[in-house]
Amino acid sequence: MYSIEGSTILVTGGAGFIGSHLCDALLKKGANVICVDNLMTGKKENLAQAMESPNFSFVDGDANNKEFLHGIFEKQSIDYIFHYAAVLGVQRVIEQPLLVLDDIIGTRAIMELAKEFGVKKVVFSSSSEAYGHMAELPLKEDTGRELQNQTHSTSLYSLVKITGEQIMQVYNDTYGVPTCSLRFFNVFGPRQESSTYGFVIGIFIKQILEGKAPTIFGDGYQTRDFIYVDDNIESALHALESEKADGQVINVGMGRQTTIRDLAERLIAISGKDLAPIFKEAREYEIRYRSPDVTKMQSLLGVTIQDNLNENLKKTYQWYEQTQV
Ligand code: NAD
Repeated sequence: MYSIEGSTILVTGGAGFIGSHLCDALLKKGANVICVDNLMTGKKENLAQAMESPNFSFVDGDANNKEFLHGIFEKQSIDYIFHYAAVLGVQRVIEQPLLVLDDIIGTRAIMELAKEFGVKKVVFSSSSEAYGHMAELPLKEDTGRELQNQTHSTSLYSLVKITGEQIMQVYNDTYGVPTCSLRFFNVFGPRQESSTYGFVIGIFIKQILEGKAPTIFGDGYQTRDFIYVDDNIESALHALESEKADGQVINVGMGRQTTIRDLAERLIAISGKDLAPIFKEAREYEIRYRSPDVTKMQSLLGVTIQDNLNENLKKTYQWYEQTQV
C-alpha cells in the first residue's frame, strides 16, 4: 500500500483541468504537492485553492525538458508522480503534430528521473484514444494491448499515449519502478477548456450560455462515455494507493454510453432556454462509438461510480455560468 498522507508528489500538467483538481485532492489528503506546468492550456486561476496551502508549490516550466526536471528532483525528494502534462484536444493535435510528439520525450524523461531518484510509483494519464477505431464494445484493456502491438493509432495523440503506456510498462517490469496507466474516457466538470479547442460539454455549455444552439457534427447518435472529474480523481487516487494497480493499464470511465444528441438535449433542459441543437456535416476522423469495460477499474481500484450524469452536468453548467469563461 502506498500512502499519500505526508508524501511529496509531483503533478505534471497540474494547472490544467484534471491536474488542478488532482492537486486539490492530494493536498486534502495531506500530501506535499509540486505542480509543474508550462501554462500552455493550464491556468494559474485553476490553482487558486491549491495556492492557499503551505504544502503546495507551483513551478512554471516544460515537463518535457529533462534538465529542468532534474533541478526539481535534486532539490526535493519526490515519492510519487502523476504524469498528466500533454498536448490535447482534437484541433490542437491536428494543428501542432510535432508539439504532440514531444510528449514522448517528456514521458521518457519522467521515467528516467523516476528510476534515478527512486520514485515509489508513477501514474500516467493515458486515454481512450489508445483504442483507435476499435469497434467491439465495451472496450477492454487487454484488447488495447493487442492493439498496441498492431499500432492502430489513429492520431499522433493516440500514438503518444500508447507509447507512454509502453514506456510505463517497461519501467515497471524491467526497472522496478511501479507504474499504472489510466485510460481516461471523456472527463468533464468545472475548469475544463471551453474554447473551440476544448471538449464537447464545455463547448455546448458555452454556446448555450451565449444563447446559441449547440452544434452537433453528424447525426448526433455517436456515443461517448462521460465521467465527472471528481470520480476520475477518486480513481486516480486509488490507482496510486493500490498495489494491485501496479504494472496495469486500467480504463477509467462511467461504463455508460451517452449519445451526443442526448447530451445536448440534457444541457438545453438544464439551461431552461428555448433552443434546439443544429447539425453540421460529420467529421471524418470522429470515432462512432466509445464505451469502456470498467470491470478492472472496479476490481483493482475498488471504485464504483454512481450514475449522476444530470446532477453533474448541472454542477458543471452552473460553474460555467458563474465563471463566464
Ligand atoms: P489540460 O489541457 O487542461 O491539462 C494539460 C496540462 O498540461 C495543462 O495545464 C498544460 O498547460 C500542461 N502542459 C502541456 N504540455 C506541457 C509541458 N510540456 N510541460 C508542462 N506542462 C504542460 O487537459 P486535461 O483534460 O486536464 O488533461 C490531463 C491529462 O489527461 C492529459 O494527459 C490528457 O491527455 C489526459 N486525458 C484527458 C481526457 C479528458 O477528457 N479531459 C481524456 C483522456 C485523457
